Amino acid sequence: MSSEVFAPSDEVVAKTRVTAEQYDRMYRRSVSDPDGFWGEQAQRIDWIKPFTKVKNTSFEWPDVSIKWFEDGQLNVAANCIDRHLKEHGDTVAIIFEPDDPEAETRHITYRLLHGEVCRFANVLKELGVQKGERVTIYMPMIPEAAYAMLACARIGAVHSVVFGGFSPDALAGRVNDCDSRVVITADEGCRGGKKVPLKVNVDKALEDCPGVEKVLVVRNTGSDIAMTSGRDVWLHEAEAGVEAVCEPEPMNAEDPLFILYTSGSTGKPKGVLHTTGGYLVYASLTHELTFDYRQGEVFWCTADVGWVTGHSYIVYGPLANGATTLMFEGVPNYPDAGRFWEVVDKHKVNIFYTAPTAIRALMGAGNQFVERADLSSLRLLGSVGEPINPEAWMWYHKQVGRERCIVVDTWWQTETGGFMITPLPGAIPTKPGSATKPFFGVQPVVLEPESGKVIEETEAAGVLAIADSWPGQMRTVYGDHQRFKETYFQQYKGYYFTGDGCRRDEDGYYWITGRVDDVLNVSGHRLGTAEVESALVAHPKVSEAAVVGFPHDVKGQGIYCYVTLMAGEAASDDLAGELRNWVRKEIGPIASPDHIQFAPGLPKTRSGKIMRRILRKVAENDYGALGDTSTLADPGVVDDLIANRKNR
Ligand code: ATP
Ligand code: MG
Repeated sequence: MSSEVFAPSDEVVAKTRVTAEQYDRMYRRSVSDPDGFWGEQAQRIDWIKPFTKVKNTSFEWPDVSIKWFEDGQLNVAANCIDRHLKEHGDTVAIIFEPDDPEAETRHITYRLLHGEVCRFANVLKELGVQKGERVTIYMPMIPEAAYAMLACARIGAVHSVVFGGFSPDALAGRVNDCDSRVVITADEGCRGGKKVPLKVNVDKALEDCPGVEKVLVVRNTGSDIAMTSGRDVWLHEAEAGVEAVCEPEPMNAEDPLFILYTSGSTGKPKGVLHTTGGYLVYASLTHELTFDYRQGEVFWCTADVGWVTGHSYIVYGPLANGATTLMFEGVPNYPDAGRFWEVVDKHKVNIFYTAPTAIRALMGAGNQFVERADLSSLRLLGSVGEPINPEAWMWYHKQVGRERCIVVDTWWQTETGGFMITPLPGAIPTKPGSATKPFFGVQPVVLEPESGKVIEETEAAGVLAIADSWPGQMRTVYGDHQRFKETYFQQYKGYYFTGDGCRRDEDGYYWITGRVDDVLNVSGHRLGTAEVESALVAHPKVSEAAVVGFPHDVKGQGIYCYVTLMAGEAASDDLAGELRNWVRKEIGPIASPDHIQFAPGLPKTRSGKIMRRILRKVAENDYGALGDTSTLADPGVVDDLIANRKNR
C-alpha cells in the first residue's frame, strides 16, 4: 500500500481549530474522562432542559444499554433552525441545484426554512401525527425532503427516510417494518434527465401496507398523478390552511429521532434507530471539525438523504452548525461526466464530500471533464462509503483538488451516526487509502478474528471493533433489540463489532480492508479484498475492480477478480495476463489472481457500494442463493456476470 504522507500546509496549521498537539491531548481526555469531555462538547447545542448525567452505557453481554445526556431535553429542529435566526436569519441554509442544469436553482435562507418547516409540521399535526409516531419519507433530493425530516423532528415524530430509488416492494417492506401510518412523497422526482414515478411507486407499495392512512404529496414536476380521495393530500393545499409558526416539541435526549435502514451490502437491511441528543452533538461536532467548516462556506455532500450520510452531513450536522448546505437532485454523469465540477464552480463550493464509486466512475470517464472546470473555490475534499483505493485518492487529490486541497477519508457506518475514523485537517497528516486516526471518544481495537483477542501491538491486522460507546451510536434495531445485541455485541463480548476488517500500521493509522466476510485466506495468508482491488485500480487501463474468494483445492481460497476498464479500453486475454502480472508485482505472487473477468458493470447497492457477497456467489457457481438483492441498483448486471463467468 502507498506510504506517501501528506502533511497539512503551514497555512492550514496556522488557522486550524485543532492542532496535532491538541488532537492528542483532546483525544486522551475524551477517552479517559468521557463525562467531562462530552459534557463540555454538548454545550455546542441548545438544551431546553440541561442534562445532569452525561454517559450511561454498557457493552457487556447480555445487558447492552446506551444512554447519553439522558435527563436533558432539546429539540433538533430548533437547534437546526430557530437558534440561527437572530444573527443568521438571512444566511442561506440550503442551496438547491436541480437535475436539469438549465432549471432554476433555489437559495433557502434560515428564515425561509423556519417558515417552511413550521407549516410542514403543522400539516403533519393536522393529519394527526403524534409524538413518537413513525413517518416514512420517500422523496427526491429536493429541499422538501429536508423540510419533511425537520418537520418530524419539530413535533417529535420519528422519520424513516427511504431512498427514492427503491422499488415499491422495498418501500413497502420498510413502511411495514416501522408501522408508518403516514407516508410523505412527491409526484415525481428527476434524475439524470429521467422522471422517477414516486407517487406511482407509493400507490403500488401501499397495496401491501394496510396500516397507511395518509399520503402527503409534494408537487415537484407538476405532472398529472392519481390522488386517492380521503387518503392522499397535497402539501401545498394543506399548507394554505395552517399557521406559519409551530412551537418545537421538547424531546428527551433519548427519544428516537429517526430510523434508517442500512444499505444491505451484507444482507437484509437493519432498521437502525438513532436518538436525539447524542446524535445531534456528534453529527454537528464531527461536521465542524472534520471539514473544518467555517461560517459562510458552501458545503456540498453529494449523498442522497436516503442514506445516513445525507442525514448527518446534508441535513443535521451542517444545519446545526448554521452552515450553507447544497442539495443536488441529479447524478454525477448527467448531462455529462463534468456535472459535479460545473456545480462546484457555479455555487463556489468550498468543501466537497462524495463516494469512491463516484470518484472511480469520473476517473474512468477521462480527465477532459474535470480539466475544463476552474475548481478554485475548493478547499477540502472528503470521501465515504467504501475503502478509497490509493489510485482513486491520488486522482481526487490531483485532478479535483489540484494538489491544493486536503482529502479526508471518513470511515463510519449508519450505525455510528457520524465519523469514527477520519483525519482532522490541521492535525493529522493523511496517507492515500487510510482513514487515519479515531475521532474524539472513539476507541478502536483490532481483534484476532477467531479468538477475539485484542492485538496490543501497534502494527496489527484483524477485525475492527470499538471498545466503548460514543454519543452518536445507534441505540437499537427498531422493534428488535435482540437482533441489535446479537449483530453487534455477541460475537466479541464487551465490544461493538463493526463487521469490517482492518490493518493498523506502524504509525497507528487504520486501513479498512473491507468486510470481514470478504477477507481472503489464500494458502494461509490473509489478504484484504481492498488491497488486491487497489492494485488493479492502480493499472492505467482499469477504472474499477471487485475481488472475491472462491473455494480452491490447493490454496483453500482462490482469487477471482472482476475488472471494469477505463472508457475506450478493450478487454483481451493479453490484458488479463498483463493485469495478473501487475498484481503479482504490486503485492506479491501470493496475490496472483486466478481468474480475471472483464465486466462492464459491477453489482452495487443503491448507495453505490460493491456487493461482494453476490460476486462471491457468482464466482462460486452458486446462483441459487444470491440472498437479499432488493437493494441492488441494477439487477441486470448480475445476468451479464453469470453469462461471462470464468470459473467453470
Ligand atoms: P449493511 O450493513 O446492510 O450490509 P452497509 O454496511 O453497506 O449495509 P452502511 O452503513 O451504509 O451500510 O455502510 C457502512 C460500511 O461502509 C462500513 O461498515 C464500511 O464497510 C464501509 N465504509 C464506509 N466508509 C468507509 C471508508 N471511508 N473506508 C472504508 N470503508 C468504508
Ligand atoms: Mg453494515
